[in-house]
Amino acid sequence: MVRAPMKDTDCLVVGAGVAGLTTAFELKKRGLDVQVLEARDRVGGRTWSGTLDGAEVDWGGEWIGNGQPRVYKLIKELGLRTFATYDHGDKVLEVRGKTSTYKGTIPWMAPWKLIQIQAGIWWIDALARNLSKEEPWAHARAAGWDATTLDAMRRGVMWSADARGVMDAAMRTIFGAESGELSLLHALAYVRSAGSLNNLIATEGGFQHDRIAGGAQAISLAMAASIGHDRVHLARPVARIAHDATGVTVHDATGEAWRARRVVVAVPIALGARIAFEPALPALRTQLMERAYMGAAVKCFARYEKPFWREKGLSGEAASADGLVSVTFDQCGEDGATPCLLAFIGGKSARTWHQRDPAARKQLVLDHLTRYFGPEAQKPIAYGEADWCTQPWSGGGPIAIFPTGTLSTHGSAMREPIGRIHWAGTETARDCMGFIEGAVESGLRAAEEVAAG
Ligand SMILES: Cc1cc2nc3c(=O)[nH]c(=O)nc-3n(C[C@H](O)[C@H](O)[C@H](O)COP(=O)(O)OP(=O)(O)OC[C@H]3O[C@@H](n4cnc5c(N)ncnc54)[C@H](O)[C@@H]3O)c2cc1C
Repeated sequence: MVRAPMKDTDCLVVGAGVAGLTTAFELKKRGLDVQVLEARDRVGGRTWSGTLDGAEVDWGGEWIGNGQPRVYKLIKELGLRTFATYDHGDKVLEVRGKTSTYKGTIPWMAPWKLIQIQAGIWWIDALARNLSKEEPWAHARAAGWDATTLDAMRRGVMWSADARGVMDAAMRTIFGAESGELSLLHALAYVRSAGSLNNLIATEGGFQHDRIAGGAQAISLAMAASIGHDRVHLARPVARIAHDATGVTVHDATGEAWRARRVVVAVPIALGARIAFEPALPALRTQLMERAYMGAAVKCFARYEKPFWREKGLSGEAASADGLVSVTFDQCGEDGATPCLLAFIGGKSARTWHQRDPAARKQLVLDHLTRYFGPEAQKPIAYGEADWCTQPWSGGGPIAIFPTGTLSTHGSAMREPIGRIHWAGTETARDCMGFIEGAVESGLRAAEEVAAG
C-alpha cells in the first residue's frame, strides 16, 4: 500500500555507496535538504569492511593510490587515515603450473615474452592516450575499437600465449572479465581514465599504494554519520521513479513514496535498468543501462598465525596466468598484525564460483596459496570469502562492463541528466572510472549539477 508522500525535499539520492553519499554529503554542506535511499541494510555498496578472526578485511574495494586526489582529500576531511600496502620482498608468477619469483611490476620471463608484455602495455597506453576522458566515444576510431575485443586486437603485438596469459590475469582483476569479452574501446577508455595501465597494476606508486585504516567502508560510514542517520534510509530499494517538470516522486519497495525537486541515481549502471521510470527514459539511456553488465569477482581471505611468506622474503603478491586465482596480496593489518592473505578470483572462474562446493572452494584457494608461498598456507586459522556475483544489489564486480558496440553508440547518455534525474556512480566518472576515486568524482559532479539546477 502506498502511504502518503513524505515532505518535499531538495534532492533524493538513490544508493548509499561512495558516489551517492558523496553527493549527499556535498549537497548538505551547501545547505540543501537531502535524503538517501539505500536498498541494503548497510551503507558503502561495493566497499564493505569486516573482520576475519580479528583481522580487518575489505570484502570489496580497498586500495587507493597515485592520481586519486579527491579520495585522499575526503579521507582527510572525514578524519580518517591511510597506511601503505605491504610491498617488500619478491613477488610470485605462475605460468603453466610453474612458479618463479620477481621484483617490481613486470615479472621475470624469457626475454622475448617479457618484451611482448611490455609491448602490450605500451600499445594500450599509446592508444588510450588519444582518447578524451570526457567523451572517449567521440574519437574518430571509437566505432572500430568498439567493434572488436581487447584480445582480438592485442594478438598483433603479443604472439606469446604466456605473455597474453599474464595480461589476462591483470584484466580479470581489473575488470572481473576476460580479455576476449572486453570491448577494446572500453578497455582503452578505462586506461585513459586511470592515467596509464601501470597505474592500474602497480602497488608502490600505483592504485594499490595505500589501504584505509579501519577499512574502505569507513569512508561511507563517516559520510552517513555526518549527513545524519535520520536522512540515510536503509533497506529501501527504489523500484519506481516518476518525473515531470515540477519534480520527482520516488517509490521504494516498502510502499513509501518520496517527493523531491531532483533525484540523483547513484546505483551501478547495470542495476539502473531494474528501476521503472515514468515516463520512460530516452531509448539511448535505457539501452545503455540494459546493455551494461557487471563483471565477476570473488575475494577470498585466509588468516594465519604468522606472516610466514614475509619471513621467506615474499611480498604476498602473486599473479597466475593459469586462470583460477588471478592475483594474491598480503592483507596483514597495519604493522604486520593479524597475518592474512587475499586471493582474488575474477572473470569466468568467478562467474561460476558459487556453484562449487564450499569446502572444495576453500581447498582450491589454499592449494594455490601453497604453490606460491609454501605448505604453511594449508593451515589457516580462519577462511572467508565474498562472492560479489551473489549480491543482488551489486550484481557482480568490481565494475560494470560495456560490451562491444555499446560505448561508441550509447556513451553520450552516460552522464547527461534527463529532466530532473541526474546520474552518479563510478561507471559515470571521467577520472578513475571504476574506482573509489571515480565514485567520489561522480558524486561531486552530480552535486554540482543539482546545486546549479
Ligand atoms: C571485489 C571488489 C574489489 C574492488 N577493489 C577496489 C579497490 O581496491 N580500489 C578501488 O578504488 N575500487 C575497488 N573496487 C571498486 C569500488 O569498490 C567501486 O568503484 C566503488 O565502491 C563504487 O561506488 P559507487 O557508489 O559508484 O557504487 P556502489 O558502491 O555499487 O553503490 C551503489 C549503491 O546503490 C545501492 N542500490 C542498488 N540498487 C538500488 C536501488 N534500486 N535502490 C536503492 N539502492 C540501490 C547498492 O546497494 C549500493 O549501496 C572494487 C570493487 C569490488 C566489488
